[in-house]
Amino acid sequence: MSPTEEIKSRLDIIDVISEYFPLKPAGANWRARCPFHEERTPSFMVSKAKQIWHCFGCGEGGDIFGFIMKQEGLEFPDALRLLADKAGVQIKFEDPAIRSERQRMFNLLEAAVSFWSEVLWQERAAETARRYFMEERKLKPETIRAWRLGYALDSWEALINHLVKLGYKEEEMIKSGVAVRKMETRGRSAYDRFRNRLMFPIANTQGQVIGATGRILSASATEAKYVNTPETLLYHKGQVLYGLDKAKAAIKQQNLAIVVEGNMDAIASHEADVANVVASSGTALTVEQVRLLKRFTDNLAFAFDADAAGESATWRGLATVLSEGCQVSLISLPLRPDGKRFKDPDECIRANPKLWLEAIAKAEPMLEHYFRRAATEYDLTKLEDKQRVTKLILPLIGRLPDQVAMSHYLKKLANLVEVQERYLREALERQPSAGGGSVQRAANAVPAASAPVKDSRWAQSERLLAGLIAAPAQMGYAAAVTTPEMISPEYAALYREMVVFFTEQGGNDKIDWLGQEFAAYLNKNAANGVSPEQLSVLALLADKEFSDFTPLEIERELLSSVNRLKRGHLRVILQKLENDIRSIEQSPAKDEDRLASLFKEFQTVSAELAKMDNNKNSNRK
Ligand SMILES: [Zn+2]
Repeated sequence: MSPTEEIKSRLDIIDVISEYFPLKPAGANWRARCPFHEERTPSFMVSKAKQIWHCFGCGEGGDIFGFIMKQEGLEFPDALRLLADKAGVQIKFEDPAIRSERQRMFNLLEAAVSFWSEVLWQERAAETARRYFMEERKLKPETIRAWRLGYALDSWEALINHLVKLGYKEEEMIKSGVAVRKMETRGRSAYDRFRNRLMFPIANTQGQVIGATGRILSASATEAKYVNTPETLLYHKGQVLYGLDKAKAAIKQQNLAIVVEGNMDAIASHEADVANVVASSGTALTVEQVRLLKRFTDNLAFAFDADAAGESATWRGLATVLSEGCQVSLISLPLRPDGKRFKDPDECIRANPKLWLEAIAKAEPMLEHYFRRAATEYDLTKLEDKQRVTKLILPLIGRLPDQVAMSHYLKKLANLVEVQERYLREALERQPSAGGGSVQRAANAVPAASAPVKDSRWAQSERLLAGLIAAPAQMGYAAAVTTPEMISPEYAALYREMVVFFTEQGGNDKIDWLGQEFAAYLNKNAANGVSPEQLSVLALLADKEFSDFTPLEIERELLSSVNRLKRGHLRVILQKLENDIRSIEQSPAKDEDRLASLFKEFQTVSAELAKMDNNKNSNRK
């Protein structure tokens, strides 16, 4: 048995979660209000039988390890350690050879950082560096020590000589990123990567040093302003955020992470007692970095350097953040006494820390910010400015995971650039969905302008399938009126298998969808791409939604889900017919016969839809 399996066999997920908050029984399962999103009615379900949890409000879910990672804000190895202690399981971490290599790298980097720090405080040659930190940047000595800032001497082998004395090999220094391999063969085989530079150690979330950034001390035309550790066994540029180890507690406590561009901005902010701040180090935020932050909060505020909207790399990274489902706001730096804008948070804080606090308090939701700047910084009477604004804002709207918000901002953009909303909507649907599923989902969804979120095809499909698990007698009805095409892509394959199994069983209306036989059937037909975990999640939903319902009530609920799915499906067909008709009408050689048959089909489908809508309205009365 692997350590994770052994831990799972010894611990009960109900006990572990109950240590954090109380769970109440719901059918065969347990439920609570979700700790990971705000809600009034409980959507957080835990299955004792399957040892999994799932929240039907925010979509988070997983096993006991996933819960601890999310709840405690830990990476997997640390969650493993925590649960191993709880379970009394002994674990050997990783391959001993790799483990000792990693450990030696951590130790080596630790020694390098101590060396740079000692040099900064002790060496006469570090006088300029000390003056830079304390006089130019006005940092307090305790801040410099807390962030372990240092100075790399203007030498080719000062650090190497020091590390050799401590017993490290040059090969190890190269692998750790502090030394560079030398081409000529005389003398040492490597030289110091960082020379005459101000040193900023980079730590992982636990505070272990994994790399460093070296900033040039005096402006130079030939040397880069910043030199970074290259990718190593420990350091992966796109997966760390500068200062997160020091900011994570404050981020969790305030449920907000502020992202700045420069390392100095983060340090200055912490010194001003605004500690929920990390630095992106001047590059576009990656998905991994956003997910790292999401362990601590879903609310991100960005304070980027003064810049024309949307023109730097950092701004472009914002689209990623939106599609990860974060609430994003933007902090605008205030104006200086001379009327120009502060160039970065560091400059603003050094002038007056109160201005920084005020700027944070005035953060605007991201799209509001874009709209305000578009209205003031562009000349919207000009066609090309309208196009630029649309190009800037429309893709961001497409990344919103929420239909209501998407609809709201589409209207707003349509008004701003004076274009009909439906053209924007069409442009949005034509957009490739690179890097995010939300655009895809939006395009597949019912094209009604203000479809409520709950009405989404995905939620209705999930509800229908959960209802069938709770009331197997309804399978015959569902199979007769619902085709797999009506079901959302997430659940279409599972539904198809359910229909096939039901048919093979000769229309048996007592199928236990969670039982051995259907599981064996799915197993045998694994190639059809249905994952058994989907059934476990649906079983939880069945308990959550239907455990207090009578069979008749469940039947009524299923009828309503089927109708909604069918109406949604008809609207998608109508939309497609409309597009086909338009493109034929616009083509030079109009195919009149085809056009006539499309029109006929359009009329049939819209009559059917109208009939369903009427029924729906009369049912409501
Ligand atoms: Zn939730």
